[in-house]
Amino acid sequence: MRIVLVGPPGAGKGTQAAYLAKNLSIPHISTGDLFRANISQGTPLGKKAQEYMKAGQLVPDEVTIGMAKARLEEPDAADGFLLDGFPRNLNQAKVLDEILDEKSIRLDAVLDLEVPEDEVVKRIAGRRICRSDSSHVFHVTYSAPKAEGVCDHCGGELYQREDDTEETVRKRLEVYHRETEPIIDYYKAQGLVVTISALGKVTEVTQRAMEALRQNAA
Ligand code: AMP
Repeated sequence: MRIVLVGPPGAGKGTQAAYLAKNLSIPHISTGDLFRANISQGTPLGKKAQEYMKAGQLVPDEVTIGMAKARLEEPDAADGFLLDGFPRNLNQAKVLDEILDEKSIRLDAVLDLEVPEDEVVKRIAGRRICRSDSSHVFHVTYSAPKAEGVCDHCGGELYQREDDTEETVRKRLEVYHRETEPIIDYYKAQGLVVTISALGKVTEVTQRAMEALRQNAA
């Protein structure tokens, strides 16, 4: 299956993507994670991306598209993938279509995670992520780790993303409405959009998503 996941920051894309990718046996490709890995390794690409990310802005397409394309060329993505955070604007969506057209393949679904805006800010400001595995996500109030600052799953250190402050979250939301939301209409015109509510327990949302994808494929 080839799936694109969209939704505002804080919708739980990363968390859901990890579970869905596992259930569907496809790689989880997150451009945000790829950027963060480049930043922590101090690569030139990471250096270019860092300031934009910190400000809650999109990293320019010249940087992002090449990185996403290279990742999609890797052998594990040949039979399917779950894209999380890419495409994030209309140009990226069109380039993705071109990449897929060249291979004579197409997307199966665009899964749209819906969540009210005030919930987004609450979720993100309290979010803590494991340094060892970004799919291990906690919340200081809603799903607190047993020991503060320590991942329940692997003992890794929990940290707050540099772009998870309230001010940056508001900026990221603004960017989402302006740049990313238009891709939903673009994909609706292709009949690909499956919308679900991202409210509720993580496992409930995963089940809802799996069911919606099953119905869409039927
Ligand atoms: P995420 O982990 O998906 O929330 O992404 C974190 C940040 O990485 C975003 O706020 C952007 O600054 C940058 N980013 C991730 N994916 C993209 C993309 N497809 N295009 C541009 N910037 C991106």
